[in-house]
Amino acid sequence: MGHLVGKDIYKKLVQKIDAQAVRVPFNERIYNIVKALYSAEEAEIYVKMPYGLSTLDRIQKITGINPARLKNLLEGLSDKGLVIDLFIDGEYHYMPSPIAVGIFEFTMMRTQGDLDMETWGKLFHHYFEDGSLYKANFSNGEQIGPLRTVPHEESLADHVEILDYERAVHIVESAEKVAVGLCSCRHEKHHADAKECDVPLDTCLSFGMGAEYLTRHNMAVEVSKSALKENLARSREYGLVLQADNVQKGIASICQCCGCCCNLLLGMNKFGYENAIVTSNFIADIEDEKCTGCGKCAKACPINAIEMKDDSDPNTKRKKKPEINLDLCIGCGVCGLDCKPSACQLIPRKKRVIHPETTFERVILQSLERGALQNQIFDNPENIGNKAMNAILGAFLRLPPVKSALMSDALRSRFLGAMRAGVRLQGKGFLTEM
Ligand code: SF4
Ligand code: SF4
Ligand code: SF4
Repeated sequence: MGHLVGKDIYKKLVQKIDAQAVRVPFNERIYNIVKALYSAEEAEIYVKMPYGLSTLDRIQKITGINPARLKNLLEGLSDKGLVIDLFIDGEYHYMPSPIAVGIFEFTMMRTQGDLDMETWGKLFHHYFEDGSLYKANFSNGEQIGPLRTVPHEESLADHVEILDYERAVHIVESAEKVAVGLCSCRHEKHHADAKECDVPLDTCLSFGMGAEYLTRHNMAVEVSKSALKENLARSREYGLVLQADNVQKGIASICQCCGCCCNLLLGMNKFGYENAIVTSNFIADIEDEKCTGCGKCAKACPINAIEMKDDSDPNTKRKKKPEINLDLCIGCGVCGLDCKPSACQLIPRKKRVIHPETTFERVILQSLERGALQNQIFDNPENIGNKAMNAILGAFLRLPPVKSALMSDALRSRFLGAMRAGVRLQGKGFLTEM
């Protein structure tokens, strides 16, 4: 194959990462990250391989690389979390890792091999700090993000109905395999000398296919379900936000996040993008008569959505009372965990939130919102016909009226149905089940 050398291949590599469901604007900071993580040969494979999960045979035909060499390289990339390999229908399928959940998390979860965590932690920290990644992904009112808030059930008001996919304990109990790994955001902050909290690092919980991928590559260790539930219980003690994969079926992970380290919460806290976090279907509510004005809820809220205001009511001994900014509240329930009179609780939101049913749906909707859906449909970057169709479709899908029509309540499910049918016609029906 013709080798692209020096800076060009790494620039193309960033462009390829940027063309996926989470956008990655090019600058010197991301360039330095990919240069530290990929060899030039690995970068070239990443650039040439299809966007979607593909067999070794398909990638070999597209890249023209010797099969044994290719297998070796893909396995090495998978061990580093730079490519995702999943065992489906009796053989491995490979796809390039997106930046998140992918290159960032898996790099900072690695425990084996030639590791330079300090350099990587500092490089990622430097990139997140400049804010360009948040701007590229959240500045146009995007509704679909990679993670969704899971409520602390202890904070739900009496008789509030909650579905199984919204319950952390149900996610643990129904998983085939469960594992624990390092929290990438805290690990990154630790190495960048920016970790301000005492929250432990072993808080990344994974399930099913996610647990299988991470344990196979030494990025997590398999544990019993009771150990995982004990780990989860610590999130109440530390007042952590639970965030799961933004899907209803096949949930691969639950994060336990603090407002100071979590890069998604920082999207809200530091850069002001309220849509950086997909909310739960619940919202905080305070029962005024019960509230003593202790202020614990305001202190606990990881996104500062509660403010203690002067209480001028002559009939109460309270000096202050909490006021919730309902536009900010993500429905995590952290505020209710330490409210002694149970005045602060979660109640249902008036309008239910879109949580995609499967990963397939999430990737389609997330890519559509970020102008990258054409790459999931015409996914062979080495085919000229594919490239042309990709460009035409991309221009069409990026038109604001087209995008908002396809995302609307009226058209979304028909659009997703058509996408599923198209993928099945290509013989990749397994993708629609993921
Ligand atoms: S999202 Fe939360 S738990 Fe996950 S890696 Fe970041 S801080 Fe850690
Ligand atoms: S923690 Fe409870 S009692 Fe204390 S201020 Fe908040 S709502 Fe009121
Ligand atoms: S007020 Fe804060 S802590 Fe309470 S549910 Fe909303 S975001 Fe979570």
